[in-house]
Amino acid sequence: MKNSGTFLIGFHVPVAGGFSAAVDYASDLGINCIQIFSKNPRGWSAKPIAGQDALDFKKKRAAAGIKYVIIHTCYLLNLASQDPALRKKSVFSLAEELERAKLLGADYLNTHVGSCKGCPPELGIKTVADSINEAFKLCVSSPMLLLENTSRLRPSIGGSFSDLGAIIGLVAEKKRLGVCLDTAHALGAGYEVRTGAGVKALLKEIESKMGLEKLRAVHFNDSKAPLGSGIDRHEHIGLGEIGKAGAAVLLKARALKSLPFIMETPKSKPEDDRKNLAVANKLRVFP
Ligand SMILES: [Zn+2]
Ligand SMILES: [Zn+2]
Repeated sequence: MKNSGTFLIGFHVPVAGGFSAAVDYASDLGINCIQIFSKNPRGWSAKPIAGQDALDFKKKRAAAGIKYVIIHTCYLLNLASQDPALRKKSVFSLAEELERAKLLGADYLNTHVGSCKGCPPELGIKTVADSINEAFKLCVSSPMLLLENTSRLRPSIGGSFSDLGAIIGLVAEKKRLGVCLDTAHALGAGYEVRTGAGVKALLKEIESKMGLEKLRAVHFNDSKAPLGSGIDRHEHIGLGEIGKAGAAVLLKARALKSLPFIMETPKSKPEDDRKNLAVANKLRVFP
């Protein structure tokens, strides 16, 4: 699936008109990667996916040249929760999302690790790993699960790649796990992603904590909140704290260029996605 010659870029796209409508949205924009929700991201219930719908989506996706499909899990899921009922619900929901991702032929399922609301970080990390182990047992084969870094600082977990590496270290089926780098979250968590040296240091951390091959996708977002703020607020590409120069550094980083870049930028006006795509294309010039 990897093609280092092609710029792999896209957006989180709406599925309001069904899964196939997401492909139409992508084709209309001219993008080759998409991220979608497979169910309402703010509810627990999930309408079963009809076999025909999944088949149509996969056919249409292939015809449209969509190279990567990433599914983002529901926001209610909390794999780190210390509340047994919520954790159990989250494990079942994750297993269900893995099944749905498989049915839709997705390349990855992307998830947040959740929060244990001030519990010791080591306990939070262990809880997330236990939850993933349980979900993997319930769904024995699936697309790779990607853990997304958060913008939250300690005592919260998941803001650093050292936390994500520690989670992977405690999961039995490590081959089924990877990570997704959210650039806005990374800046919020204190990673200097706007300079070559900063990106190099970040990649070095990923290499030492889990191996670079675990890094599978980028959530390419600018940030309204400054470096080390611990705040998650996305901004249009080039218009936030990362800025145009910082965005260009990320777009040109050799270690990232074969990865799908998914923008989760604001969609307040219909032309927003087109504008962000144009800016990204312009800033990306390979040496
Ligand atoms: Zn996310
Ligand atoms: Zn975010």
